[in-house]
Amino acid sequence: MARAYNFSAGPATLPEAVLRQAQAEMLDWNGVGASIVELSHRGAEFIGVAARAEADLRRLMSIPDDYAVLFLSGGATTQQALLALNFAAPGQAVDYVVTGHWSKTAIRQAGPYVDVHVAASSEAGGFRDIPPRESWSLSPGAAYVHITANETIHGVEYRQVPEVGEVPLFADFSSSIASEPIDVSRYGLIYAGAQKNLGPVGISVVIVRRDLLERAGQPRADIFTYASHAARDSMLNTPPTWNWYLLGLTVKWMLDEGGVEEFARRNAAKAALVYQAIDGSGGFYRNEVAPAVRSRMNIPFFLPDEQLTARFVSESKAAGLLALKGHKAVGGIRASLYNAMPVAGAQALVDFMRDFQQRNG
Ligand code: PMP
Repeated sequence: MARAYNFSAGPATLPEAVLRQAQAEMLDWNGVGASIVELSHRGAEFIGVAARAEADLRRLMSIPDDYAVLFLSGGATTQQALLALNFAAPGQAVDYVVTGHWSKTAIRQAGPYVDVHVAASSEAGGFRDIPPRESWSLSPGAAYVHITANETIHGVEYRQVPEVGEVPLFADFSSSIASEPIDVSRYGLIYAGAQKNLGPVGISVVIVRRDLLERAGQPRADIFTYASHAARDSMLNTPPTWNWYLLGLTVKWMLDEGGVEEFARRNAAKAALVYQAIDGSGGFYRNEVAPAVRSRMNIPFFLPDEQLTARFVSESKAAGLLALKGHKAVGGIRASLYNAMPVAGAQALVDFMRDFQQRNG
């Protein structure tokens, strides 16, 4: 059976090589006579898998030594609540920049614990831009500034790191982690659910500057404490071993393919293909995000009416292009082009788009 091109926003397409390796190792990992999923997280086998995944991710993203890397169960949404609990005192101000659906989720999760201040928002303009840095109003004494590096639903992505002075910058990189080189040292904390660029759902990565782990935060259980997870190599309780293993395979695959520089090149090429097809369609396809901040990872676009949109979704699926239906919050079509989507997949999509327009335009 041929594999289709899967444009799902997450859980998302994984590299075929990773799936094949997991398949080959499913019954007997490395000659031990059991699957890695069946082994204790305290045993040498899994500890080796976990340590390799961390070392490889550090290499892939050039993560400095003064940052801890945590592998945690719970999704990105869980981290959004934990940020407030771990790094802000009760009622302390925290600054959030609102650029789409996921910025708002981050605020909702932090809201019960801290004094959330919206430093800037592009909501009035329909989330089609990122508010210019000069327009942000940052609170004196804020615990952190939070941004969403890539808005998975609205298709808006920061193309440079905003300067926020001494206050640590926290960023939700769920849908763009490891998609291009970034300077980790510009951030106090980076978090991401793995299910887009790093592997399967069920595990999140938190990259945090170690000095921040000394902050008292708020009363909370040990299991909600990043410092405790860091002190125990993310094995405070039973970690999601299968997800961690698959994440490790995915990160290794990215290194083997040429690392983040190579993925930056491929991702730019894929996004250029799709945006050119949209912009060159004479208005048949529309994407209204300001060109300077258009996402390379998630490209939402619209057809002239609902009927054509529904036909596009069903015909593309029949043509082996999966999961192109847009998120219900915005409608239309959405193509997610994470690291595991080959350039040929984006090419197949634009070929389909041109053919569909010819038949229906
Ligand atoms: N942030 C972003 C940018 C996302 O895209 C998502 C999920 N699509 C989330 C947070 C929430 O992640 P999770 O479902 O893993 O909690």
